[in-house]
Amino acid sequence: MTTIRASCPTCGDVQIQASDLVVRVCADDDRGSYCFRCPSCDRAVAKEASRRIVDLLVASGVRMQVWRLPAELTEERSGPPIQPDDVLDFHLLLQEDDWFARVAEMVRRSLPR
Ligand SMILES: [Zn+2]
Repeated sequence: MTTIRASCPTCGDVQIQASDLVVRVCADDDRGSYCFRCPSCDRAVAKEASRRIVDLLVASGVRMQVWRLPAELTEERSGPPIQPDDVLDFHLLLQEDDWFARVAEMVRRSLPR
């Protein structure tokens, strides 16, 4: 099993088995990163990785995950941004017994006809 030297922000250099690392590559923008749980302090560590580092880690037997940016990032938005008062109003609405029907009615009224 390949051992890889990585850096924990708290502990400094640590030795990690390739099977305890994960490389993640974003299919949308090709950015890479790797993550592991520090064997010394048990904290989760994530670092950005260049394409070269990604290739080296994968060649060393590190598992690779490909992920996509959330679809919500490309959704069209309308209306004013949500404010803290909106969140408070919603919290108060959730205290009512008929909150679901009232929310459904608000959504129905806001949809284009
Ligand atoms: Zn650590």
